[in-house]
Amino acid sequence: RPRGKGIRKKSVLEFAKVDVELLPTVILVGRPNVGKSALFNRLIRRREALVYNTPADHVTRDIREGIAKLGDLRFRVLDSAGLETAAASGSILSRTTEMTGSVLARTQLAIFLIDVRAGLQPLDLEVGKWLRKNAPGIRTILAMNKSESHDDGGGVLTAEAAEAHALGFGDPIAISAETGLGMAELYEALCPLLEDCMLQRLNDKRIEDDSALDMENEENKLPLQLAIVGRPNVGKSTLLNALLQEERVLVGPEAGLTRDSVRAQFKFDGRTIYLVDTAGWLQRCGQEKGPASLSVMQSRKNLMRAHVVALVLDAEEIARNRCSMKHAETIIARQAVEEGRGLVVIVNKMDLLNGRRNLMLYEKVINAVPKEIQTVIPQVTGIPVIFISALEGKGRMAVLHQIVNTYENWCLRLPTARLNRWLQKVMGRHSWKDQATQPRIKYFTQVKARPPTFVAFLSGKAQLSDSYIRFLTKSLVEDFNLGGIPIRVMQRQIP
Ligand code: GDP
Ligand code: GDP
Repeated sequence: RPRGKGIRKKSVLEFAKVDVELLPTVILVGRPNVGKSALFNRLIRRREALVYNTPADHVTRDIREGIAKLGDLRFRVLDSAGLETAAASGSILSRTTEMTGSVLARTQLAIFLIDVRAGLQPLDLEVGKWLRKNAPGIRTILAMNKSESHDDGGGVLTAEAAEAHALGFGDPIAISAETGLGMAELYEALCPLLEDCMLQRLNDKRIEDDSALDMENEENKLPLQLAIVGRPNVGKSTLLNALLQEERVLVGPEAGLTRDSVRAQFKFDGRTIYLVDTAGWLQRCGQEKGPASLSVMQSRKNLMRAHVVALVLDAEEIARNRCSMKHAETIIARQAVEEGRGLVVIVNKMDLLNGRRNLMLYEKVINAVPKEIQTVIPQVTGIPVIFISALEGKGRMAVLHQIVNTYENWCLRLPTARLNRWLQKVMGRHSWKDQATQPRIKYFTQVKARPPTFVAFLSGKAQLSDSYIRFLTKSLVEDFNLGGIPIRVMQRQIP
């Protein structure tokens, strides 16, 4: 018989990649020598195991922890092997009870191993009793290890399975940690349990994060990192001075740095705004070679550190060239949204279009710019565009309010209940050619903020088309006012 049946990858628990913290924890339990370490090693393969000590009763015991991979399943796995060997005295009950508090509290599932070659031992019964008593909330899978030689091809170990069933943990799975037999069956058994854990943990985390964020919001301590970018002479410095005016300012070149590396921070609306140094960006783009390109790289790195990117354009130039964004500007705007930054576009020097003669041009610029930006950056809808005159100090407050607003939206966390109410409404809005093809989204949740990232969980093999994902993204942007925020919508199947 081949090693296992090959694992069918039907579930995509990949969303765990979003947040490794959310991975459920599975503990391997069983009396000594049933093969816990062997299974642990198989699950983590060549990945590194983290060994840490839990001091209990003057004895230091090792617990190994690693990230397990089984097909497309990922979870944390704990090997409790060290617990028993380290405490060869004492009975198994007293020994294992010691680990209840710290370890079991962060465990969601258990794989209870027995040794099929040795048959059921009194210690196995003790482990079973202990599990029921100390870990009633932990769902347990029973596995008969070392089944490779007992598996004669039929795959059924009737007598042994019946005996193991008596432990009260359901039907056992026949596996071999050494040969890999039964890994497909273990996968099938773990899959639904891990998914339940995952959803539960997503919700728990949401609640924790929500309250943490509320606190942060209250204290308004989150510094906002802002990058002001644009080609030379569009008015970045003038705008910066206008923004810094009247606000309590801290500006100054840092020792050893050039004029380009001015750092500034100021307060607006009780919030600290920190200016990320991007002075060199675009200024030098394509103009100088050699050492200067290094500083462009540096500027770009800084840009990617920003939360909000304000791209400054020159109104007069737009009117003259009938084109809002030049190549370099398009590149930087795209880079900003691809890196997940919030984007605000500022059209400066509007005073130059204010004359009577220019009224038509003025209106033209106001109408054309948002449309053109949408065409060159289709990934993000509703990018806010603000028309100002930095020289006259007009539009300064609008710029500040928009930057803060974009930042707040970038940090937005929508509660799952609210999102699912929203989803009900929005699904009715989309016209379906065929009712039967309507995807059934089981559950919609935000897994991350900064920028907001959402996951739609689908039943079975259902899949959302790209156009439907775009529809959901657009609806989120419209309904929650997320213009200019590169939100992400992903999908995951659950069986
Ligand atoms: P632990 O004390 O529960 O961690 O058990 P170990 O993983 O250290 O394994 C105990 C012994 O059983 C070792 O000699 C292993 O090589 C052996 N063993 C583990 N898994 C299997 C298996 O699937 N088949 C066979 N034949 N031996 C195994
Ligand atoms: P930077 O290279 O992007 O930092 O651009 P500067 O802030 O140095 O401005 C370049 C030139 O444009 C300067 O002569 C400014 O006085 C002028 N300028 C900046 N903002 C405005 C504006 O709103 N209106 C007008 N008419 N001129 C402006």
